[in-house]
Amino acid sequence: MNTATMIEPSFRESVDMMFNRAVALMDLSPGLEEKIRVCNATYTVRFGVRLRGSIHTFTGYRAVHSEHMEPVKGGIRYAMGVHQDEVEALAALMTYKCALVDAPFGGSKGGLRIDPREWEEHELEQITRRFAYELIKRDLINPSQNVPAPDMGTGEREMAWIADQYRRMNTTDINSAACVTGKPINAGGIQGRTEATGRGVQYALREFFRHAEDIKAAKLSGTLDGKTVIVQGLGNVGYHAAKFLSEEDGCKIIGIIERDGALVSKDGLEVEAVRQWINKHGGIKDFPGATYVADGASVLEEACDILIPAAMEGVINLGNAARIKAPLIVEAANGPVTAGADDILRKKGCVLIPDMYANAGGVTVSYFEWVKNLSHIRFGRMQRRQEEARHQLLVDELERLSADKHLGWTLSPGFKENYLRGAGELELVRSGLDDTMRSAYQSMREVWHGREDVTDLRTAAYLVSIGKVAASYRAKGL
Ligand code: NAD
Repeated sequence: MNTATMIEPSFRESVDMMFNRAVALMDLSPGLEEKIRVCNATYTVRFGVRLRGSIHTFTGYRAVHSEHMEPVKGGIRYAMGVHQDEVEALAALMTYKCALVDAPFGGSKGGLRIDPREWEEHELEQITRRFAYELIKRDLINPSQNVPAPDMGTGEREMAWIADQYRRMNTTDINSAACVTGKPINAGGIQGRTEATGRGVQYALREFFRHAEDIKAAKLSGTLDGKTVIVQGLGNVGYHAAKFLSEEDGCKIIGIIERDGALVSKDGLEVEAVRQWINKHGGIKDFPGATYVADGASVLEEACDILIPAAMEGVINLGNAARIKAPLIVEAANGPVTAGADDILRKKGCVLIPDMYANAGGVTVSYFEWVKNLSHIRFGRMQRRQEEARHQLLVDELERLSADKHLGWTLSPGFKENYLRGAGELELVRSGLDDTMRSAYQSMREVWHGREDVTDLRTAAYLVSIGKVAASYRAKGL
């Protein structure tokens, strides 16, 4: 069929189509297949808040896709485009994502139809607390049942308000801090959570570039160093991913697409400077030293090695997929490529690292935060100094041997400092995240290369995660 005559499915239909493509290759009973696919429940709340002298009514949602494991987990999004279909698609993706990275949660997602830029901070606090109240009283926020996290338009500030609201309503719950993740450190958060999703994108790409066969499949060569990257959305996920890839892996960020247009520069953009500019001026326009393109979305079609859509869903669709030139797309956002576009890109030989894997860094570190809250102790607190003392023993012994036997050994510069430092919370979080991203990638690529009927990473990811969800339902006797 000609793309012009094809109808773009909705986000949820897209997720279902990708799910169906995978289950067609599995041996699930039709009943179980349906049970896994459907969204268990979606709660819609409409509530009024008195602001600026009148009552404003807001609409919010919390969808619970699968409770094969509890609590269920998933972010809360603040955007004008939020609707039931969207939160249900996002909740389904959370189920598959958690299964893929072995985070012991079912999938959920929430959203509030609001443009946060239209409200003052104290107004947003009132609205957030009221929304949280509605969800908490129905156990749709609860440390053992449903644990939200940040998503588009929300961050640690909103999570701190939600945690405080839960505490006020559950004054004797000793585990109250675990009711939400993505909190600031001083409100029970964990080091490395804010950057976690972007960091996960970096680790995903590093793992991809460890496999010569996979690099070749994307018609690329060499390492990450020097690769040209275009990123869409310089928010939490896109900013951290672009910053780490350029500052630590030698990638060149040749395009940044934002709401108000795009910046391009063959020499590479300095991510930190662009972010500071956006913070100060509210957009990327007039940023010095780069070319401004008013039609930002057109920059998705520019030539580059790696394209990272990190803003929102549906941006690569039937309308532009055929013109996308990047041989490797990393879905840092949820659902940035529609099912129809996915077909077109796969036929062109483009390699897509799917959202359920690429942006799983957030939920992985959220899992660590939840465990930290339930155990009431910071990671590394018990072991760090003991580890340092043992390392010190070894270094002292080596130095003594060298001196006593006149061997003239000297330790390499920096060795002592690095070796003697015991792992603190941030190092442990990064290690856990790196391990998770590597293992999950390997589980996907085993299926990708190991089965003749699987030709892409997304189908492989679905096969791995649906297999785990199915096993969990079977264990319950379903
Ligand atoms: P954010 O609100 O921090 O950032 C989104 C950025 O995209 C903003 O800078 C915004 O201006 C920009 N943007 C919005 N619409 C755009 C458009 N049409 N074109 C270009 N830029 C646009 O949100 P975020 O938390 O970074 O989330 C981005 C995506 O990543 C979402 O799909 C979200 O579901 C997904 N995600 C986020 C997390 C997380 O931990 N925050 C985890 C997993 C997945």
